[in-house]
Amino acid sequence: MIRRAFIGQGRPKLPYSPVADKGAGSVLQVPQPAKATFFVDQPYKDRAELVIKEGGEVKRGEPIAPFADFKSYALSSVSGVISSIEPYTGARGQKMTAITVEAKGDAWGQGPGSTPTLEAGLKYLENCAGGLSLVRAANSKINTLLVMGVERDLLATAVGQVVSEKAPSIKKGVEALKKMTGAQKAFIVVPPGLAKSAEGCGCEVKVLNAPYPAGIDRLVLHSLFSVTVPAGGFPEDVGFLVVPAESAAVVGEAFATGRVPDEKMVTLIGKDASAKPLNFRVRIGTPVADVLKIGNVTVNNSDRVVLGGPMRGKAVYSLKMPVEPDTDAILVQGADDLPEIADNSCINCGECVRACPARIQVNMLARFLENAQYEEAAARYDLLSCVECGLCSFVCTAKIPIFQYITLGKHELARLGAEA
Ligand code: SF4
Ligand code: SF4
Repeated sequence: MIRRAFIGQGRPKLPYSPVADKGAGSVLQVPQPAKATFFVDQPYKDRAELVIKEGGEVKRGEPIAPFADFKSYALSSVSGVISSIEPYTGARGQKMTAITVEAKGDAWGQGPGSTPTLEAGLKYLENCAGGLSLVRAANSKINTLLVMGVERDLLATAVGQVVSEKAPSIKKGVEALKKMTGAQKAFIVVPPGLAKSAEGCGCEVKVLNAPYPAGIDRLVLHSLFSVTVPAGGFPEDVGFLVVPAESAAVVGEAFATGRVPDEKMVTLIGKDASAKPLNFRVRIGTPVADVLKIGNVTVNNSDRVVLGGPMRGKAVYSLKMPVEPDTDAILVQGADDLPEIADNSCINCGECVRACPARIQVNMLARFLENAQYEEAAARYDLLSCVECGLCSFVCTAKIPIFQYITLGKHELARLGAEA
């Protein structure tokens, strides 16, 4: 009998959506929502300990923290009255606090002033549009800024749109962030079509001409800077502050105007695969339903709505869910087009191992994660080296939701570590 060698697909070639210096096309405006909801990434505590109250007023751009000892806060994108403060559990079981504000008026709150300092950034810009985080930079020696001008996921064009239209703001943001962190060097990484726009961003331009998932920050650091972020570590551990291009533009505008911009760019990817995705300017906290309405996208029973793109996004169960600071895309998948997910057993085909950019033995990792053995998964099969690209789920012959197991596993490990 002639045995044919099993020839796997290797890593699939999945191109990012092309964006050119002139942008992805027209950008539509989503009106201010009647109600905006913000998540603060810390668990709700006793109601008696609240330092903000339902009925209290907030202004645009104002940081709101519900409890006195909270290190995290949300930035309100509307001026108005707080209508609810409630516990909220995220898709991976994260315990958070949700604050809803009923919009009224258009007053701006106090901003960070005109002098860029790390203190001002920590107080007014944490988790601004794009999802900026400065907390680790405050406890690390930062040598280099890396502005990410590549999309976080497939099909999205929001980041490219921002780079193409906001280069002067990004340049101001880079100057401010250098002063805030002490970084000596700054780079921006962009796809080939945005090289010209990137020249106006005040950084050395690095062009990334490679398919997904090459634009994930840790892979960029490895491929373009020969720097490896340790497993379970962060770019700050190796002297890099990674800044989403949209956040860099917000930082630039915030110190120039004294106000923290509260809109973000979002790509809406509808069910019609042949239609061109559209970009929208949306206030953070706007319900997904408002964006779908302006985009004329209807959602039927059994359709799926995802915040983010097809590889790394998270499905939402309600159209009242808000656009978050790092929501670059809203994807609507028709019921007939949903990717199959099954409770099958692994057949050891090895496709996930061949696809994994972090060279993890994903088939073995999945076994431990399926059985909730998170510590073993980290110790024996490199769970913490995963860059969360989702390719393993995409190629899995048995349709096992490996990516979901991985993100849950990482969250559980972090929770166990915090408890310890
Ligand atoms: S999600 Fe993680 S384990 Fe899966 S292919 Fe990507 S890097 Fe590898
Ligand atoms: S987890 Fe999926 S892709 Fe990986 S070896 Fe098993 S069946 Fe194949």
